[in-house]
Amino acid sequence: MCRYSGGRVLAVESGLYVVATPIGNLGDISQRALAVLAAADLVAAEDTRHSARLLQHYSIDVPLQAYHDHSNARAQARIMACLEASGVVVLVSDAGTPLISDPGYRLVREAQEQGYRVIPIPGACAAIAALSASGLPTDRFLFEGFLPAKAGARAARLQALATETATLVFYEAPHRVAETLEAMVVAFGAEREALLARELTKTFETLRRAPLAELAAFVAADSNQQRGEIVLAVSGSRGHDQELTPDITRLLLRLVAELPARRASAVVADLTGLRKKVLYDFLLEQKD
Ligand code: SAM
Repeated sequence: MCRYSGGRVLAVESGLYVVATPIGNLGDISQRALAVLAAADLVAAEDTRHSARLLQHYSIDVPLQAYHDHSNARAQARIMACLEASGVVVLVSDAGTPLISDPGYRLVREAQEQGYRVIPIPGACAAIAALSASGLPTDRFLFEGFLPAKAGARAARLQALATETATLVFYEAPHRVAETLEAMVVAFGAEREALLARELTKTFETLRRAPLAELAAFVAADSNQQRGEIVLAVSGSRGHDQELTPDITRLLLRLVAELPARRASAVVADLTGLRKKVLYDFLLEQKD
């Protein structure tokens, strides 16, 4: 039931509010988010028990209803009825910004199509938090969300992204992070800079930027890095003039088995347009 009754003057205007909630630290919520939540006639939540605990923390007591992208027509109809009665409906997910690898797309579309206001209340988002402290270029980035869980589909997706020049941002499950980093080394090359952002805003927050092979070794060697919530970011391809792709790396390593390092670097530089020094330095690092 929508709590709103006809003649009441609303402090918060009627509409569907898409409200960001913390991704760990409960201090990371805006005053506007709290005001809208406190005024809500209905909070549509991915997991009502989870959101009930969150609201309890802020001493907010409002009606909750489960909502996700596979919710049945009745759940959606109840939300629409509340909007129709000029109510304040708030959409939240378990953490961060709704619709960012979280439910809400269908509801936002439906509300817009029926002519209701949809109002974003911005706040925490793991991808943006990770990027902001990554030290990677942020002028252009591509949010990829979760990669496919199966190795073949994941490798194909990564390969399709190998020449992308924008910084890439991924969400990853902790039990897959080690193998995903290995797959990234294969697709993007050992030297591409990447970031592991783990448990952001929480006690064991870790931010580590390193070349992909080094980051993969760091995570493989420490099971603690394979726990919690994780964002991976990878700098974009810098093009063939500067970058050692996996194919070029293979060629170089094959040649250096037959030729001195300087000669192998010169041949590959000639074939690819890469700078000889980049190739030679890479061979020296391998030797080390
Ligand atoms: N809507 C959320 C947002 O705005 O970031 C993301 C929801 S998605 C279902 C959950 C994923 O976000 C996690 O598996 C993890 O990849 C990432 N994530 C959420 N909280 C995080 C945190 N505190 N630190 C690092 N990654 C986090």
